[in-house]
Amino acid sequence: MIRERSAGVVVVRNGKVLLLLYCAGHWDLPKGNIERGEEPRAAALRELFEETGLRGVIIEGFHTRIHYFYKKQGKLVSKDVDFYIARPLNSKVKLSYEHKDFAWLDWDDAIEKATYKSAKEVLIRARKFLEKR
Ligand code: ATP
Repeated sequence: MIRERSAGVVVVRNGKVLLLLYCAGHWDLPKGNIERGEEPRAAALRELFEETGLRGVIIEGFHTRIHYFYKKQGKLVSKDVDFYIARPLNSKVKLSYEHKDFAWLDWDDAIEKATYKSAKEVLIRARKFLEKR
């Protein structure tokens, strides 16, 4: 079985969360592949910049992981994705070719709009963490 590891971020700005519309048609958090030897947080921030043009800073104390399977050219892929929370240093989103649209949403709207259950879970956990802080 093929294994993949990615890392992503819940980007929070003025109480709103950033979701991206992937070309495949799903709304999800910014994330991408961890390169060999790369630290997951660094990968998450690099992907955020590549996908949105946003420079981010990680808010310490939160880390969560999701797992899913998908099929790539008929082969099963087992994938883990690490998520962090980030605050953006700039606000203008410039999408890459990987995405069709973006939205800054209130937590409830983001949880509803995120396509995958696991992404909704990440948002619920991140909101809980920020509320308790
Ligand atoms: P990455 O963005 O991590 O570099 P990628 O774009 O190659 O990777 P994924 O976003 O993991 O790959 O998408 C691969 C497949 O998995 C797609 O069919 C996508 O719809 C599906 N997928 C993405 N996120 C989830 C999830 N949280 N749960 C289940 N399936 C998902």
